[in-house]
Amino acid sequence: MDGKTLKAGSIAGVTTIRNPILAARAVMERSEHVMMIGRGAEGFAKEIGLQIVDPSYFYTPERWNGLQKALAEDSVKAVLDHGNKSSELKGTVNKDNKFGTVGAVALDQAGNLAAATSTGGMTNKKYGRVGDAPLIGAGTYANNATAGISCTGWGEFFIRSVVAYDISAMMEYQKLSLQEAAAKALAKMEKLGGDGGLVALDNKGNVTMPFNTAGMYRGTVTADGQIDVNIYR
Ligand code: ASP
Repeated sequence: MDGKTLKAGSIAGVTTIRNPILAARAVMERSEHVMMIGRGAEGFAKEIGLQIVDPSYFYTPERWNGLQKALAEDSVKAVLDHGNKSSELKGTVNKDNKFGTVGAVALDQAGNLAAATSTGGMTNKKYGRVGDAPLIGAGTYANNATAGISCTGWGEFFIRSVVAYDISAMMEYQKLSLQEAAAKALAKMEKLGGDGGLVALDNKGNVTMPFNTAGMYRGTVTADGQIDVNIYR
């Protein structure tokens, strides 16, 4: 999502597009739509010359084994950037501690914000399930007037809480700071029973990366090249 124009693009339910974020951006910049799914999204990506791969390109033994384990346990697993939180069962969903979603937010020197989120989603999810990542306002949002936000976590709860837009709305209408708004939105989501975290950056360059799990892989880089990377609190 482009915070200057509020233009957005997203794709879901694809298995052959090598770089899904490029396809999402192309939906934003080169189609009249915001969201495309499945075969249509893949056809569009191919048509505009993006690289198409066999789904086996995305195979990793770690994720395959995670799926087999989830299948055996008949559970849906969130692949969260959780660090080491114990696999606490909540309903039928539990978590394992692997890398999952990759989200990025950026601010340029002209004050433009952008946000993007890419994910394989939850392990052993049902056919056709779409998470929060490609849903503008739920897992991803950017507005130059407020902030850029990218979420990771148990997608269903981020969708129901409209977390990313909630943060932007609190900043816009209640004039809350980025940090206050993000903390409130996350607490609302947590109250419903979900977990996860987010990375967010406002139009002044303030950063907040709250999470309600033991850890979340995260990092920042400033204009002068200062890098900061963390997993746990
Ligand atoms: N939010 C993603 C989803 O629900 C999962 C993740 O963040 O790893 O699909």
